[in-house]
Amino acid sequence: MAESLENRERACYDALGKEKGNPRMMSQGFLTSKLEKAIGWARKYSLFQYPFVTACCGMEYMATAASHYDIDRFGAGFPRFSPRQADVLFVVGTISHKMAPVLKMVYEQMCDPKWVVAFGVCTCTGGFYDNYATVQGIDTIIPVDIYIPGCPPRPETVLDGLMKLQDKIQHSRQEF
Ligand code: SF4
Repeated sequence: MAESLENRERACYDALGKEKGNPRMMSQGFLTSKLEKAIGWARKYSLFQYPFVTACCGMEYMATAASHYDIDRFGAGFPRFSPRQADVLFVVGTISHKMAPVLKMVYEQMCDPKWVVAFGVCTCTGGFYDNYATVQGIDTIIPVDIYIPGCPPRPETVLDGLMKLQDKIQHSRQEF
């Protein structure tokens, strides 16, 4: 049964190869894809993150990176501490107005394509720090791709946010 299936598969490749006038395609397996899809796939599984960690959410960020949750399984386990070598900015913790220009500069130093994750309710909206010193959401300073809620977010929520970012990367228009 398995052999006859294999023969049928080979006959199918032969027919396709003849039709396309490509003898190399005959009796060989081949794979077709769009370049854009392949680049999206490569980009989403090779994320180099820059952790901009300012407050208590940092503990949860570290827990996600540690062996129990193992963010490396998603191809995002390699933090870079130079914005020029990173493509995802993880903003983790409360951002004060004093810190805002630094965050903006880090973002501007990153090369395109780049993405931003707001990690925790303080970065998303200012959280319960409704005061003159705290930025009320980092999207008032830089564009944000994914918002991860929670105070602090559980590692499962962080991984869910990461998978949503990967999905977004895969389905975006790939510039290269
Ligand atoms: S969201 Fe909660 S845990 Fe995270 S930085 Fe703000 S106060 Fe701390």
